Amino acid sequence: MNTRARVALGASLAASFAAWAVRGRSSEVFGPSVWRGKTGRKAIALTFDDGPSPATPRILDILAGYSAPATFFQCGENVARAPELSRAVCAGPHEIGNHSHTHPNFALKRPAYIIDDFLRAQRAIEDATSRTPVLMRPPFGVRWFGFREMQERLGLMCIMWSVIGLDWKLGAPDIAGRVLAHARDGSIVCLHDGRGTLKDPDAKPTVEAVRRIIPSLLEKGYHFETVSQLVCRT
Ligand SMILES: [Zn+2]
Repeated sequence: MNTRARVALGASLAASFAAWAVRGRSSEVFGPSVWRGKTGRKAIALTFDDGPSPATPRILDILAGYSAPATFFQCGENVARAPELSRAVCAGPHEIGNHSHTHPNFALKRPAYIIDDFLRAQRAIEDATSRTPVLMRPPFGVRWFGFREMQERLGLMCIMWSVIGLDWKLGAPDIAGRVLAHARDGSIVCLHDGRGTLKDPDAKPTVEAVRRIIPSLLEKGYHFETVSQLVCRT
């Protein structure tokens, strides 16, 4: 291999490493992170990002019908706008995690900006629910320099996912099909009860998919846990 080819290969490897470090579900380059529970237990954690929104109570109703707990990674801005929806989540067996305040892409942002945005969300959730999240999910799955310090200061573990529903762009049958095809022991399933910080997003496909996913997984012998329950037992 000549020098130019070696340099090109090096650059391409560096680029793909950087992409994995920032967005890879198993990357812990920027801080401690978990993307699945242990195998060997038929437990699954359903997670919902970008809420709360007017769709949240509809998902809570479905979960309640099966006594299924779930984890909601909420945006502080949404919580501040609709604190009663966050409290409705807390009234059930569910967990609330921090999904930032304004749902930015944190790549290239300064550490102080990253810490401040998650701190604002942490306060908004505490003000609304009197609960202090111990879990965090980064918007778009993007971690950056400053995440490790933010996680240490706020006591937040980063939670990625093992199955992503692509529910912001697929219809209900395809969302449910993806989740059911990929769900395994210890899976953390990522769905959305909102869209960023939109006030009234269309989450109908997600709601309809959840209606299909839960009974199918129960039939396969799975049960549901919050992320903390799933991860703490591993
Ligand atoms: Zn999000």
